[in-house]
Amino acid sequence: MNFETVASDAFADKVILVTGAGAGIGKQAALSLAAHGATVILLGRTVAKLEATYDDIIAAGGVEPAIVPLDLKGATDKHYLDMAATIESTFGRLDGVLHNAGELGVLGTIEQMDMTMFDEVMKINVRAQISMTQALLPLLKQAENGRLLFTSSSVGKKGRAFWNAYSISKFATEGLMEILADELSNTKVKVNCVNPGATQTGMRAKAYPAEDSSALKTPADLMPLYLYLLSDAAGINGQSIDAQPK
Ligand code: NDP
Repeated sequence: MNFETVASDAFADKVILVTGAGAGIGKQAALSLAAHGATVILLGRTVAKLEATYDDIIAAGGVEPAIVPLDLKGATDKHYLDMAATIESTFGRLDGVLHNAGELGVLGTIEQMDMTMFDEVMKINVRAQISMTQALLPLLKQAENGRLLFTSSSVGKKGRAFWNAYSISKFATEGLMEILADELSNTKVKVNCVNPGATQTGMRAKAYPAEDSSALKTPADLMPLYLYLLSDAAGINGQSIDAQPK
């Protein structure tokens, strides 16, 4: 897609929540948002990794971020409601959410798929996003330009052997995004999906352990598109955007 590069202060005074902000694409998104003026709420399950992201943002001169340690696997609806209340009392606003955290699970055939693994992947990749969105929508709707950005995958658009639970969860994410975009079409909240495509991260290395990752895009390469989709400039709604179109 054609998109404009956002201004260096595009996120000044904005509060953006990034899930999975301790590693990979989520970490880079948090750093890039902060570099463009955002106050970033860093959500993830490993506190040390979130603290490292926090330190990097401060060292780069960014606005002090907030840390929300939360394992989406065990989180309840109440956790999300409490988090929304804390965001409201601390910041008084929320301008965007990047639903980025995700789990690969254990790849293999549907015939032999472990259903406990399936339930866990669906909880982390789908249910958590629905519940978190329910809790945060009242705040997002108050924003001048609320943004909800979900993270999909190529296997969320075309099924592929052995990608079992992960692929099913990404199909669900695409559907969730379309439903929400339609339901919110008369509000100021825009809802879209981004598919990063093959990117140098821990998840990619787990899925393709024998691959030479040096030829892959880095999370930083993807940031112009991520920033645009979270910015005021992105007026699109209900779109699924490939960061690396074929
Ligand atoms: P990484 O595995 O590098 O990072 C995933 C992040 O999500 C980590 O910070 C991780 O936390 C967090 N996370 C995972 N499970 C939980 C949980 N239960 N609770 C809270 N946080 C959790 O993955 P990527 O950066 O590669 O992936 C980011 C998104 O992009 C995912 O949605 C993925 O499906 C998608 N994607 C990635 C592609 C790629 O090639 N990399 C291609 C297509 C889609 P921790 O570090 O503590 O484990």
